[in-house]
Amino acid sequence: MSAPPIRKIVIVGGGTAGWMAAAALSKVLGAMPGLAITLIESEAIGTVGVGEATIPQIVHFNKLLGINEAEFMRETHATYKLGIEFVDWTRLGHSYVHPFGQYGIDMLGIEFHHFWLKGLALGDATALDAYSIGAMAGKAGRFYWPETGNPNSPLARLAYAFQFDAGRYARFLRRRAEEAGVTRVEGRVTQIEQHPETGFVTRVALENGTQVDGELFIDCSGFRSLLLGQTLGVPFLDWSKWLPCDRAVAISCTKRETGAEDQPLTRSTARKAGWQWRIPLQHRVGNGHVYASAFMSEDEATETLLAHLDGTPLASPNHIRFTGGHRTRVWEKNVVALGLAGGFLEPLESTAIHLVQSGIARLLAYFPSTAFTQVEIDRFNAETAQDYLDIRDFLVLHYKATARNDSEFWNYCRTLDPPDGLKAKLDMFRSSGRIVREHNELFTETSWLSVMACQGIVASDHHPAAALLPDDEVLRRLSHVRGVIASAVSQMPTQDQFLASIGGAI
Ligand code: FAD
Repeated sequence: MSAPPIRKIVIVGGGTAGWMAAAALSKVLGAMPGLAITLIESEAIGTVGVGEATIPQIVHFNKLLGINEAEFMRETHATYKLGIEFVDWTRLGHSYVHPFGQYGIDMLGIEFHHFWLKGLALGDATALDAYSIGAMAGKAGRFYWPETGNPNSPLARLAYAFQFDAGRYARFLRRRAEEAGVTRVEGRVTQIEQHPETGFVTRVALENGTQVDGELFIDCSGFRSLLLGQTLGVPFLDWSKWLPCDRAVAISCTKRETGAEDQPLTRSTARKAGWQWRIPLQHRVGNGHVYASAFMSEDEATETLLAHLDGTPLASPNHIRFTGGHRTRVWEKNVVALGLAGGFLEPLESTAIHLVQSGIARLLAYFPSTAFTQVEIDRFNAETAQDYLDIRDFLVLHYKATARNDSEFWNYCRTLDPPDGLKAKLDMFRSSGRIVREHNELFTETSWLSVMACQGIVASDHHPAAALLPDDEVLRRLSHVRGVIASAVSQMPTQDQFLASIGGAI
């Protein structure tokens, strides 16, 4: 006989993770009779207050929730994002875009970049950006939706994400979740009760005396990891050896006053002991400096940030400490952690909100009954751990693949032994130009190619099939692709024009 279904879900925490979970679960499971979803959050504690750049999967999340994009852009003061511009990462004075979408066009069924590699060998040194509609449109400040119906259009190779005000996004989702029946409870959780034999969490008690019972608890309490870490004692896997950045200082600014339109890109500029982000929203610009405390003091990190702002600060700097890594099991007993409560890899590739989204999707796929079958929990944990590992290796690549030798920090990063998975990828690319995408990992061939090739990893060969195409034909086709992309970009509206045309401008 099957075990009774879960009837009471309790979400502890109302940051981006908590409200994403509440909105998605109430949308998908809300119609089930007898299911109650409660979210507890504490205004006094507040949220981490950062986390505004996303990757394209968020578009699907919003679609799942039935969100109208124009309304979403307006209410969260969002802008579009076609990729990340990396400045000074390869060497001082160099920049490139890691674009969403794909490079070039399919040629003879072989990945485009093999022809680009052959072009390089023939002396055509055009940088990869010129073959990406996302990179070129981003740099030109232009935006249009991808063309999904016509595979021959360059716009078919475009993908996009958003940059939004995290506080507004949480409130936007909160409204939807409450309309779908989620009960919000305000207050600070001070006690967590467990079943004396199983250790399952049974109830949380608030400072004001309120008690909330549950069968499934979702820990979205941020870095505190109140249930998973503090109560159930699940250990943290520390990856700071590979990802030494462990602090951030963040500050929002006014938009610069020149009247210039912003590019639909997040910018990451490498600094002496870390990097600085610039995330342009419609009403303000988010800035932050992520750095390694072993190589830079808090004062110097703050000075560095303040010296590189292009607007007027709107508040005082927000200092945040973190450790790169994750809880060894993000699902333990009847507690599933989402967001910072489960782990955090520094925000270089804007992956944290995506990990919340993929955690929710995975939870729905393995949604438990009151039996909490261990084999499913183990599977959930193994898949999640793999996600973290794949992302970690991709992040480490950015630090490892650099020619910078102008500080102790860069010397450390450049000379560190890469993790095995990254080493295998580097060896493969160096020897044959091939990129192996493992087990449907988050980052595609485009992403790996972008960072490897643009940060100076040299492929000594390319696919033999590209060698069969005559040299002048390869060069002609490369030039043609560049022309098609440049022409498509010139016909796209600017981001501001596009936002106004769909009713998404504030
Ligand atoms: P929080 O926002 O910290 O929310 C925790 C919630 O738990 C709050 O509501 C709090 O009140 C509540 N809470 C805690 N304790 C209690 C208690 N005892 N009782 C009641 N309530 C409690 N991600 C991206 O995808 N893109 C980015 O660009 C990005 N940039 C980042 C930059 C930095 C420097 C950092 C540190 C993170 C960044 N992230 C980014 C990650 C992103 O901010 C988080 O993944 C996201 O905001 C989710 O946070 P959260 O909801 O898990 O935690």
